[in-house]
Amino acid sequence: MKNKTALITGITGQDGAYLAQMLLTKGYRVVGVVRRLSHFGVATQRLDWLGITDQVELVDGDLLDVGGLARIIREYKPDEVYNLAAQSFVKTSWAQPTLTAQVTGVGVVNVLEAVRLESPDARFYQASSSEMYGLIQEEKQSEVTPFYPRSPYAVAKLMGHWATVNYRESFDIFACSGILFNHESPLRGLEFVTRKVTDAAARIKLGQANELVMGNMDAKRDWGHARDYVRAMWLMLQQDKPDDYVVATGRTVTVREMVKVAFEHVGLNPEEYVRIDQAFFRPAEVDVLLGNPAKAKRVLGWEAETTMEEMIREMVDADLARHAR
Ligand code: NDP
Ligand code: GDP
Repeated sequence: MKNKTALITGITGQDGAYLAQMLLTKGYRVVGVVRRLSHFGVATQRLDWLGITDQVELVDGDLLDVGGLARIIREYKPDEVYNLAAQSFVKTSWAQPTLTAQVTGVGVVNVLEAVRLESPDARFYQASSSEMYGLIQEEKQSEVTPFYPRSPYAVAKLMGHWATVNYRESFDIFACSGILFNHESPLRGLEFVTRKVTDAAARIKLGQANELVMGNMDAKRDWGHARDYVRAMWLMLQQDKPDDYVVATGRTVTVREMVKVAFEHVGLNPEEYVRIDQAFFRPAEVDVLLGNPAKAKRVLGWEAETTMEEMIREMVDADLARHAR
C-alpha cells in the first residue's frame, strides 16, 4: 500500500512539529506549509529541536493566499490536511484583531476551499480551541456546551470551527474540528504562560534573571501535553465518520499552582520572585476552562497520558539545559 501524504499548515509551530514527528514514525510523507521569512533557518527551529527538518518537505505558502494553497493541494494531493496555522496568541489578538480574523478565521475557509476545489476526498482537521467557550456556560465543557468567545482570537476560532462543520454538512468533506484545551511542551512559544514561567524559573535558578513579572495568577486552565494532543488529531481522521471532539485532561489548576510546580522543581519559593503587573492582564479574561474529554475517550480511545506536573518539570528541565549551554 502506498504511504499516505499529510499536509500540515503551521508545521513550524509547537503542534505542527510534534504532529510531523508522529506522522513520520507512522510512515507518512509529510509536507509542511511555511511562510516566507527573510531569516533563513529561523522557521525550522522546532523541527530542528526534534531532529526532523531533513525528513519533511517544506513548501512556501500563506493562509491568506487561497490561490497558493490550492496550488499546493493540487500538486501534493494530500490524503490528510491538518490546518494548524493561526495567529495563536490570545493577547496579541486585541492588538491585531483584523489580522487575527483574517488568518485564524478566514484562513480556515481558504484551506477548506482549496481542499474542496482540488482534493475533496482529502480528510481535513481544524485546530479549534477551548477559548471558544470563553465565559463558560457549563462547569465542564463538552462538544455540546454553548460557546461565548471573549477575545478576537476566540471569535476568529469560532468562525473556523463553524466553517469546518459547514463544509462537512454542505459539501460532504471529511472535516473534523478538534476543540483542544491548552497544551504545552518544551516547544511552546515563550509568550504563553507555562513556557514564560518555566523559562524564568530556569534563568533565575542559573542566576541569569531575578524576577518573573506576571498577570492574572487566579486564572485556571486545563493543561495537557502537546505530544499527547497531536495523537488525538490523527485519531480523528482515522474514524469512519467525521466529527468534532473535545481534547482535554479533565482537570483544571490555577496559574499560581502551575508556577509553584515550576519553581519548586528547582528548589525556589515563587513568592520571592513573582511580581504582578497590570500590563499582563487582558481586556476580557477567560477565568476558568475545564474540558470533558469523555467522547474522545469513548470514540477515539484517547486519553491524556502526561500530568500537568510531569509536563511542567519536563519544560523546566529543557529550559535549564538550553540556558546552561
Ligand atoms: P503556534 O503559534 O506554535 O504555531 C502557529 C503556526 O501558524 C506557526 O507555524 C506559524 O508560522 C503559522 N502561521 C501563522 N500565521 C500564518 C499564515 N498567515 N500563514 C501560514 N502559516 C501561519 O501554535 P500551536 O502549535 O500551539 O497551535 C497550533 C494550532 O492549534 C493553532 O491554530 C492554535 O491556535 C490552535 N490551538 C492551540 C492550543 C494550544 O494550547 N497550543 C489550544 C487550542 C488550539 P511561523 O512559524 O512562521 O510563525
Ligand atoms: P491562553 O489560554 O490561550 O490565553 O494561554 P496563555 O498561556 O497565554 O494564558 C493562560 C492564562 O494565564 C490566561 O488566563 C492569562 O491571563 C494568564 N496569565 C497570567 N499571567 C500571564 C502572563 O504573564 N502571560 C500570559 N501569556 N498569560 C498569563
